[in-house]
Amino acid sequence: MRSHLLNDTTAERYRRSVTEGIERVAAKLATTDRPFTGVTVDALAPRIERIDLDRPLHDTSAVLDELEEVYLRDAIYFHHPRYLAHLNCPVVIPAVLGEAVLSAVNSSLDTWDQSAGGTLIERRLIDWTNERIGLGPAADGVFTSGGSQSNLQALLLAREEAKPGNEPGDNAAKLRVFASEVSHFSVKKSAKLLGLGADSVVPIPVDQDKRMQTLALAHELERCERDGLVPMAVVATAGTTDFGSIDPLPEIAQLCAQFGAWMHVDAAYGCGLLTSLKNRDRLEGIERADSVTVDYHKSFFQPVSSSAVLVRDAATLRHATYHAEYLNPRRMVQERIPNQVDKSLQTTRRFDALKLWMTLRVMGADGIGELFDEVCDLAQEGWKLLVADPRFDVVVEPSLSTLVLRFIPAAVTDPAEIDRANLYARKALFASGDAVVAGTKVGGRHYLKFTLLNPETTADDIAAVLDLIAGHAEQYLGESLDRAS
Ligand SMILES: *Cc1c(COP(=O)(O)O)cnc(C)c1O
Repeated sequence: MRSHLLNDTTAERYRRSVTEGIERVAAKLATTDRPFTGVTVDALAPRIERIDLDRPLHDTSAVLDELEEVYLRDAIYFHHPRYLAHLNCPVVIPAVLGEAVLSAVNSSLDTWDQSAGGTLIERRLIDWTNERIGLGPAADGVFTSGGSQSNLQALLLAREEAKPGNEPGDNAAKLRVFASEVSHFSVKKSAKLLGLGADSVVPIPVDQDKRMQTLALAHELERCERDGLVPMAVVATAGTTDFGSIDPLPEIAQLCAQFGAWMHVDAAYGCGLLTSLKNRDRLEGIERADSVTVDYHKSFFQPVSSSAVLVRDAATLRHATYHAEYLNPRRMVQERIPNQVDKSLQTTRRFDALKLWMTLRVMGADGIGELFDEVCDLAQEGWKLLVADPRFDVVVEPSLSTLVLRFIPAAVTDPAEIDRANLYARKALFASGDAVVAGTKVGGRHYLKFTLLNPETTADDIAAVLDLIAGHAEQYLGESLDRAS
């Protein structure tokens, strides 16, 4: 069994195994003609159940053959131009190379003595990101598993900073977090994890463009103060998950300063603009944040996972610091040994930063920005198509790369029936595997959503998927008529 350990004596096995795996994936990528096969849970589950995990095959090729059956054949392929569903990007090759290197060396970024250069590379990338944001000389941050964790950590810091000393009666029940009604659900989940009350997250209405209404925010902040409550944080979203809308950051920064609230910018999606030469100005005001969430695994074309939380003041990260004698004893701080665990919610932690490093070193930041600009342009084209197409209602002109739309047949007036037709179309499309789209609710009605993150997707793809949706929806409505008569 020792021949399976990756070490000095097994380099050849390592090379052969990994190369064989890469060749299978490369062949798969070259031949996938749809983003999905449409396999059902019922069809796939028995194939996986059937595998006897106590009877290994002892043969890599045989296991890869089996993997074809249980995973590769029916996976959802984000690189396919008709995958238009969630915030998943096609990945860039330098990052995939980084992934292969980081898992083979298997550094753990919690302490210097488990990573060495890995720690310094991560810190450079945090500094690089902070410079792009403009967070100032005292900024810091750490890589995380994703935007949800970044938001949680940011709100943890905000909670600790909001505690005005140890005044009697000072308790978590008084803390309030303000976020737009279309902010990410991880804000509410974080509040719960942080022990804040059920009413702690105050939803702020959005305008027609799905941007936080700052007038309403100002009212809520005033009310908060009047009621003797503590405005712990405002979460501004730079790229909402559903619409890509960017909250008015400068106005929100102003209000945060006025009311003494921590400003967190959730740029999980919009962070791609940090590399854009054309559209960087859409993030204006982000430099005034106290903390920022970025998801490189969304708009930097990085494989999952790759995310970071950035803070204006490095000292605030102390709220996540605990010292363990076995790992990161306090004396190491004096010795200036960089232990990233001091800043992180995680302990053992992947060297995800390497993927971004490889990407920047091979392609450069402008290369990422170019790709992201392309999908934003594509969304504009899609928007024009939709506005001109009487079969569809489209919600907002995209600020990033998302389109939210609804099939609206001229002959049907019952909105519930139109809901059902749209839900049916999404399901039927998924089952066909011809394209994958997402869905959401707008004003209580069911809409479909295209999240465009693949520069290989064309306006023709969008037009073709719209036809497919219309076809499925019409089929549903036709059958529904038959059922009624
Ligand atoms: C995706 C997303 C998140 C959550 O990020 P994960 O990486 O999926 O945990 C948070 N906020 C916004 C705005 C997002 O789009």
